[in-house]
Amino acid sequence: MTNKLLRAIFDQMADVMEILGEDRFRVNSYRKVARLIGDIPTDVEILLAAGKLAKMAGIGKSSLAKIEEFVKTGEIIAHRDLLAKIPPGLPELLNIPGLGPKGVKAIYDRLKVTNVAELKAAIETGAVAGLSGFGDKKAAAIARGIAFLEKSTGRIRIDQALEAAEKVRRFLRDVSGMLRIRTAGSLRRWAETIGDVDILVAGAGGEAAEKVVEAFTAADFVREVIASGPTKGSAMIDTGGIGVHVDVRVVPEESFGAAAQYFTGSKEHNVRLREIAVKAKLKLNEYGLFKGEKMIAGAVEEEIYHKLGLDYVDPLLREDRGEVQASKEHRLPELIQLGDIKGDLHLHTIASDGDCDICEFVETAQSLGYKYICITDHSKSSVIANGLSAKRLAQQIRQIRKLDTTVKGMTIFAGCEVDVLADGKMDFEDELLAELDFVIASVHSGMSSSREKVTTRTLKAMDNPYVTCIGHPTGRLLGQREAMDLDMAKVIEHAAETHTALEINANPWRLDLKDTHCRMAIEAGVKLVIGTDAHSANGMGLMGFGVATAGRGWATRADVLNTLSTAKLKNWIKIKRSR
Ligand SMILES: [Zn+2]
Ligand SMILES: [Zn+2]
Repeated sequence: MTNKLLRAIFDQMADVMEILGEDRFRVNSYRKVARLIGDIPTDVEILLAAGKLAKMAGIGKSSLAKIEEFVKTGEIIAHRDLLAKIPPGLPELLNIPGLGPKGVKAIYDRLKVTNVAELKAAIETGAVAGLSGFGDKKAAAIARGIAFLEKSTGRIRIDQALEAAEKVRRFLRDVSGMLRIRTAGSLRRWAETIGDVDILVAGAGGEAAEKVVEAFTAADFVREVIASGPTKGSAMIDTGGIGVHVDVRVVPEESFGAAAQYFTGSKEHNVRLREIAVKAKLKLNEYGLFKGEKMIAGAVEEEIYHKLGLDYVDPLLREDRGEVQASKEHRLPELIQLGDIKGDLHLHTIASDGDCDICEFVETAQSLGYKYICITDHSKSSVIANGLSAKRLAQQIRQIRKLDTTVKGMTIFAGCEVDVLADGKMDFEDELLAELDFVIASVHSGMSSSREKVTTRTLKAMDNPYVTCIGHPTGRLLGQREAMDLDMAKVIEHAAETHTALEINANPWRLDLKDTHCRMAIEAGVKLVIGTDAHSANGMGLMGFGVATAGRGWATRADVLNTLSTAKLKNWIKIKRSR
């Protein structure tokens, strides 16, 4: 809890400093501390008390003092002072895609705009377009950004939803009379964003059920009770500073499987199932599958599918994208599992903008049973991320080669996340790229350019013989930045032609490629790589989000590059280079 609040505070300090036009390296150091704290699984209070926080890399003396201040007093004076320097609605403007700190500063300085409502009005009157450096195009982009933001409010990222669900599940486990607890809804399907969290509890009805609902709605994490009945409670709960809508339902044990099926959805998938039931003269609802009055399945979800003559459909696939037909014909894919992953190929160390060194990644990878990892720090054009110069990268390669000989049972690949420049060229010369084992080409700037521009740029990057994969292809940040307007059909076609893989970035902010694009890629025979883009050892734990996204795209183990053995992976990379 403290970690999340501190993260938000440090992030906000960085935002305000950016609006105030302060030194960007200082701003960046606040962002780093924010991310670092957000990534630590242990509460900072505990680390602080044990004296461990002071020893952590990336937390300097002044940050440490601020964290101590917060733990002692519940606030940070420097944070309060910074906020006092600007109107309260300004930081919110930074959330608008297409509007950076410089833009916010200009709009505030010159138009006296201090919040979203005033900004909308200023766009309508043409005042924003009239500002020097803005124009009609930029004003329209900001209007789209506001619309995007308004559309995404109310939906949360899957990691936030998981955290809320875990909190409620833990709580319910301790309430007596509980038999089974399960998450349903879009969270169980691992959808990329979640509206509300559904939790099912199997238990006796009557008083026992009421007790469960009462206990839930009275829990200390509940912010607001929306509805409360004999078998269902609905509430906004507080998780790390955000409000999450959670529904808890108590269902009879004999109907638990049917309820899980019904409430997992999607609605469209359930419509297909009901059509099949009706054709077979059966009735399907949240209580069970019925033949006349007789229940023929209900306690176990798998049985519902089997009694309908279908193979069991993994929740990841229940989107009405052909899965019901496939299950009828016994040709559902055997989806990739987390245990199939043999390594992580997208990692940032302290040499660029990460928080830990190569050895920490090696240790974590060993504990995960990985066979290989690849270090992929930023390249020189990513100045804010402290990207490596050619010289520093050459040094790092030497360091990795040396370290690799000392680590048993695992290979450390030397790689780089190389910026794709505006003209589609790579940020380093080919001679240097040739020294690397694995090259991720990523677009980090100019993402709002036209469809033609961003597509051509990405296609050109794939033409480079040393580019192994395209990192986070569309560059989206869920709820924060819209995807680049890539012509995905062209990108996938060219990936197939050039023997280039496409990344599924497992960070829950990105999940990019997204599920439907993964499926297109697989159908075109393009290989996927699931990378965590970890900036700390804990970040490697995000792999599951990427695996679920791959699963939603119908991926099997064979479709994902980092399920290959070390030798096979090396061979795959060689193919493009020797063409
Ligand atoms: Zn990147
Ligand atoms: Zn990265």
